Amino acid sequence: MAWNDFLLFVLLFALFAYVFLSVTITNLHKAYLAFHFSMMLWPFCQFAIKATNNATVQLFYVKLAFVDMSLFAVGWLLFTLFLTGRSSFVRRKRALAMYVPALLAAFTVIINPNGMFVQPLQGGYIQRDYGPLFWFIIAILIGYVLVSLYIMFLTLVSHKASRLQKQVMQVLKGMLVMTVFTLSDIFLYVVYPQSLPDIPGLTSLGILVSAVFFVIAITRDKAFDIVKIAHKDVINTVALGIVVLDDRDTVIEVNQYSLPPNVALHAGDHFEIAAILPREEGDKYARATELFIQAYQNRPLEMTEIEVTYPEYVGSRIRIHASPIMVGGTKVGRIITFQDMSELRRLIDETSVQNDILQNRNQALREIKNELFQTNQKLEEMAVTDILTGCYNRLYLTQRLEREVIKNMGYHIPFAILLFDIDYFKLVNDNYGHLVGDEVLCNTVDTIKHSLRKTDILARYGGEEFIIYLPNTTPAQASIVAERIKSRVESNEMTVRNGSPSLSITISIGLLSIHTFTMDHSIRNRPLLNELFQSVDQALYQAKRGGRNQIVSIVR
Ligand code: GH3
Ligand code: MG
Ligand code: MG
Repeated sequence: MAWNDFLLFVLLFALFAYVFLSVTITNLHKAYLAFHFSMMLWPFCQFAIKATNNATVQLFYVKLAFVDMSLFAVGWLLFTLFLTGRSSFVRRKRALAMYVPALLAAFTVIINPNGMFVQPLQGGYIQRDYGPLFWFIIAILIGYVLVSLYIMFLTLVSHKASRLQKQVMQVLKGMLVMTVFTLSDIFLYVVYPQSLPDIPGLTSLGILVSAVFFVIAITRDKAFDIVKIAHKDVINTVALGIVVLDDRDTVIEVNQYSLPPNVALHAGDHFEIAAILPREEGDKYARATELFIQAYQNRPLEMTEIEVTYPEYVGSRIRIHASPIMVGGTKVGRIITFQDMSELRRLIDETSVQNDILQNRNQALREIKNELFQTNQKLEEMAVTDILTGCYNRLYLTQRLEREVIKNMGYHIPFAILLFDIDYFKLVNDNYGHLVGDEVLCNTVDTIKHSLRKTDILARYGGEEFIIYLPNTTPAQASIVAERIKSRVESNEMTVRNGSPSLSITISIGLLSIHTFTMDHSIRNRPLLNELFQSVDQALYQAKRGGRNQIVSIVR
């Protein structure tokens, strides 16, 4: 009959090996495996006791069995703590106290003082008599079981309808089975050994049944597999609809998050890509959708994706992405994801509106900048222009001449300065009025402008006096220009008022031509220019004195 226990031991060992090899090892698993290992030791000891006639060896195995039972009780408590998420308690110093009763029990078993724990019957320990310390040990063990039960009870109360509750319930069932079997064994074997039939290996059987319970819980409900639970949590909380298919397009896993609202899929369903895509009126697919279906069906090893809108849900944009799941180069399934792009699209649209606004603002800014540029140009122009006649003003003339004269002197370039004044202009004002006088000024300037080269500079020097700068001009050329100007002005008949006879004026000209360069380079440009102006002014004065409408020329 000893083989009963041995067989149970072998079975438990097989389960142990199975759990060890098949599931991911976490701290909870380690606690469970240690616990399972100590469970295995019990039937082994029962077997070993009956396998020998040597009373000393038998006693050793009896003691080993009960020491193991003590450790098993601690293991049970540890397992409970891990299972109910109280593993942090185990690391505290106070937690060491929970080992004390078990160690005390184990110590009592090992010492067996005066056979008060166990005594041999018929010269051996196959039949044995338990003393009062046996009950002391049993009380300790029951204490552990009660504490564990209490912790589980607390967990059940505080975690209603949770995954943890289901898990604890599973373990509780296993625990209950084991307790019933163990108590029955004690009852039959220890309390009423004579009157009731002995059922060998009852405790061992209880251990096996409960172990099977735990292992079923581990494998079928995946209750202990943290990685799988985490994976499930991720699948269910990620903001992405996920459908995992096997190679025959059967749905293996699906979360409902972000699936198109009209698509309901469940594990075990057959997945049909065409069935979940939106159709246009007349039950037709859009061209892009058709292409997507073709790619999905004909090229299963490639990734394909499409963005669709379901007509029932206006404004919703869902990106459907299909990619194969490959294992060692073979397609074993497919993963289809559904991503709600509506928010993203809305953001993109909003951004593009903002962009348009910005571009418009930019355009407006550019226009303002342009206007500013033109205004600036006008201002610059105005700064150098005579308001009445539109020719250059005195400021510009002096600035230009300061540079030009120095340059001409330096490079020995001949040039001329021509100063003219309108003869008897006061009379024009007096006879026709100031406005006509202004008109005559403008008209005269226009006439003169037409007889000048582009590089010549005509500027109003003051009142009705003007200076013309003739760069790169010999005295002879300057004289020709002066003559031409004088005669053009003279022959310029102006109609200043309707009905009245036309009017013409004459000008007196002072002309200074410079073509020899013996100048002292130490003279600064401003005094030099003043000196030139003085000379030409004198020439003009002479022309006036000489009777007006004539040219007085100075050549240097
Ligand atoms: P002359 O030069 O031949 O000696 O005689 P004039 O009558 O022209 O004498 P002067 O050059 O001294 O007189 C200048 C006159 O030109 C005085 C002023 O009334 C007039 N004048 C100066 N600037 C303007 C102007 O911008 N508009 C008008 N209408 N008259 C002006
Ligand atoms: Mg004058
Ligand atoms: Mg004058």
